[in-house]
Formats: sequence, structure tokens, C-alpha cells
Amino acid sequence: MMKRFFAIAILVSLFPSPKTLLASEPTLRVLVTDGNKNVVEELPLEDYLAGVVKHEMSPTWPAESLKAQTIAARTYALTMKERNRTAKTGRTYDVTSTMFDQVYQKTSQGKSTVTTAVAATRGLILKRDGRTFLTYYHSCCGGETEYAANVWPGSVPTRIAMDPYCARSPKLTWEYRLPTKQFMATLNAQGTHVQNIASLATTTLPHSRRVDMLLIDDGEGMKMVRATDLRRIFGYANLKSTWFNVGLERNEVVFAGRGYGHGVGLCQWGAKGMAEAGKMYQDILKFYYPDAEIASAY
Ligand SMILES: [Zn+2]
Repeated sequence: MMKRFFAIAILVSLFPSPKTLLASEPTLRVLVTDGNKNVVEELPLEDYLAGVVKHEMSPTWPAESLKAQTIAARTYALTMKERNRTAKTGRTYDVTSTMFDQVYQKTSQGKSTVTTAVAATRGLILKRDGRTFLTYYHSCCGGETEYAANVWPGSVPTRIAMDPYCARSPKLTWEYRLPTKQFMATLNAQGTHVQNIASLATTTLPHSRRVDMLLIDDGEGMKMVRATDLRRIFGYANLKSTWFNVGLERNEVVFAGRGYGHGVGLCQWGAKGMAEAGKMYQDILKFYYPDAEIASAY
């Protein structure tokens, strides 16, 4: 029964709806850094994608994972463009070129694995309930993806994925340790005053394994720091995700965690694992965006 269901799902997604959203390929306005000033670069969406996918995923990864990544990146960009237009923010760009949207750098248009993936999926996007949506993605989920609403309050509730495919990621598990003194000094500099640490505890996000708050008992009371703030304060590459256990060892604070990134939507290492296991991009997208379907935007 399961097999049949997947076969049908694949067939449906192999033939995207002929109805398109747009008459032709749109342009995108990207905020880029030129020397030490910010400028807005407007370029065709497909050219932009070539400059995104090669930074967001290794060009050496399997073709099907690059295609899944491209469709997620295209959908994200189009959704941001649409939001900017309808919200009438007056913002002169649609996306930044940093990790807070999608990492982008101008690219030469020579043929590569990335430009092949972009061309093979030209115009294809994801829709949920007939609309494009912010198709978040991240490096490695650690074995379980996260509810978008837990990271961006107000997001539409969706299902998450139990992910066995990123098990071979070097980011599957990690440890970050630092001297307790340095930990306290860094927090103090950020406005959370801690003179001593008697114990550390955490609360988790709803229906999640990821941490919402770190609770620091300093002997006089409880100080709370949001886990997402901890990542910003101590560095996204150090505290790789909010899925962690934390404790004290002698004079060190030790975080032992899983995954890299916020955990919402497509897991890039999992997409690689799925492609290596012979899955197609349609399977990958169905797995990480279970309520979405592939459609043609132009
Ligand atoms: Zn994963």
C-alpha cells in the first residue's frame, strides 16, 4: 500500500500542473555588497539561482539533490518577491545575499552541475494549498526536522520529517565547550548578568526536541536565555543548532548537540543521502515538504 502511494505521488509530481503563475521569467532584486557599500542588483531569477545553489550546496553533490535545492531556492525567492510587492514595504530589494535569506554571489554562466540542475527544473516551484510559501532549508536536521511555527511564530503548521538520510553528515552530532568564565563574560556583555552558575537546565519547544530556553540558576535566581539568541551570541558555527543537551564539566560549559541550522524544511545532507539512495528530486521535496506539490511558475 505504501509503495503504491509513493508511486502515485511520484507520478503526480513528475507532471506538474500546466497552469502557470507568471507569463515569463521574472527578475529579482538582490541586495549585494560592492566593496564596502550595499547595492541592489536586479537580474533574471534563473541567473540568480545559479549564483545561490553553488553556495548553498556543494556542486559535487548528486544531481537530484541539486535539483531539489534549486526548486526550494526558487520558491523561496519568488515568495519573498511577492511578499515584498504585496506588503508595500517600500523596500528596494526582494532578498539579501546572506544566510538570512539565501547566500548569493554573482556567477559566470559556464555549464556546470549547478546550471544543469537549474535548467532541468526551470520555472518549477513548490505550492501549498495553491500558494507558494517560504521553503526554508538548512544544512543538517540531526534526524528530525522542526516545525516552522516553532522558529518563525505565525508560520503555517506543517508536518515534520523523521530523517534517517542525514545520518552520514559530519554535522549529525557535535560538541561545543568553553570555559565557564568565558561563557558568563559573553552573556554579561550581552546584557544577561550571571555571576555564578549553580546549574543549567533547558525547556524544549512544543512537540520538539529542540531547546526553547536555557535556564541558568546562579544561586540567587533563574536567568533565561532563548536558545536562538545563544546561537547568535556564541556563533552559529559553534552552537550549530538548538537541539542540544547542556551541562557543566569541571570549569567548562559543554553543549552536545545534533544537526546544523534551524531544522525547518529541506535538510541538505538528507537530500544528498536520499539522492545517493536513488531517490529523485520529487521524492526529496515530498519528504521534506510533505504538504506541498510541484508546480510550474512560468
Ligand atoms: Zn536530516
